[in-house]
Amino acid sequence: MAYLHCHICKWEQDDFWDENYNPITFLENSYKDILFNESLDEVFQVDRYIGNDIEGWKHYSSKITKRQNIISSLKRAIEAIDNMIWRTQEEFERKNPKRIYPNCGKQTLNID
Ligand SMILES: [Zn+2]
Repeated sequence: MAYLHCHICKWEQDDFWDENYNPITFLENSYKDILFNESLDEVFQVDRYIGNDIEGWKHYSSKITKRQNIISSLKRAIEAIDNMIWRTQEEFERKNPKRIYPNCGKQTLNID
């Protein structure tokens, strides 16, 4: 899965989408079973690492319900759709052959 991001201004978009990975299938694969088969108000611990390799990673730990966790993921999916410019690698190569960043205009696009 390829992920497009800028090391200078930190702009990023979601991993390229395809049949198997996109915000809709991600939500379905991750949460459908929980939605039907688990207790939504069960509290569990979530550990997240937010940051990047340059500035470092910060560890966040919190206790939330499964219901809240699904809602947070839905919100992140909305953001991912909102921020997506090039949905597939093919679309990216075709519409931005010089690999210029949408935010800072630098030619420093990285695909990891
Ligand atoms: Zn940039």
